[in-house]
Amino acid sequence: MKTVTSNTDFLLAIENLTVSFDGFKAVNDLNLYVDENEIHVIIGPNGAGKTTVLDLICGRTRATDGSIKFHNRELTEMREHEIVREGVGRKFQNPSIYEDLSVFENLEISFPRGRSVFGALAFKRDAEVIDRVHEIADMVFLKELLDTQAAFLSHGQKQWLEIGMLLIQDPELLMLDEPVAGMSVSERKQTAKLLNEITKGRSVMVVEHDMKFVEDIAHRVTVLHQGKILSEGSMAKVQADPKVIDVYLGH
Ligand code: ADP
Ligand code: MG
Repeated sequence: MKTVTSNTDFLLAIENLTVSFDGFKAVNDLNLYVDENEIHVIIGPNGAGKTTVLDLICGRTRATDGSIKFHNRELTEMREHEIVREGVGRKFQNPSIYEDLSVFENLEISFPRGRSVFGALAFKRDAEVIDRVHEIADMVFLKELLDTQAAFLSHGQKQWLEIGMLLIQDPELLMLDEPVAGMSVSERKQTAKLLNEITKGRSVMVVEHDMKFVEDIAHRVTVLHQGKILSEGSMAKVQADPKVIDVYLGH
């Protein structure tokens, strides 16, 4: 696979990335960069290749060509679990939580444990896990609901729980696919607040259609269309771009 950048200051550097499904290029020679502590939002019409870009980064889909560097380490060669270990966390469109476990248990189960939980270390580690679960539950607005079975949470609360399950693993890059879909207006506002909070010390890539929400969070926006970049820059810049209005915002 060709490697373009020798070294980069970007946390994530995607270069000449292409994936071809039976000859159809869902992502076509894409270059995209994410800085540390940046909230980078990808927008664009359905079928533009947004989810596929996230799939390529997290190793769910294999690139046909190009490079994805995270901390200058090539991700296109790695397996999914190795990419997680590098510090990349991914949330899918539908929440994948354990419905029959409590909020506390869902967070606890996601805490990255070391090799052994036995012996003298176990007690100390338990205290650490409990502290961390409380801290995260507070961040994702669920601290009053720690004992509630996840099945009884609202749709929005389930989304927050899953974000919490990723946060407890402390990824450096967090990727979220349509995190506010199906949320109420107040839940969307809270989610924007949450994302602005969690970028302190990490980067976030978000795919989203809700333009008000994008405006509230985005540091930089990439507009994808047919696997290629249509426009890129600040929200104000892409919103005013006639090409973007034509293929996306005007509809
Ligand atoms: P978006 O998230 O922007 O709506 P996707 O990334 O899901 O778009 O899909 C981009 C295009 O790639 C669509 O035409 C979709 O049908 C196609 N596609 C995505 N994944 C696959 C796959 N595994 N096999 C074949 N085609 C795919
Ligand atoms: Mg999608």
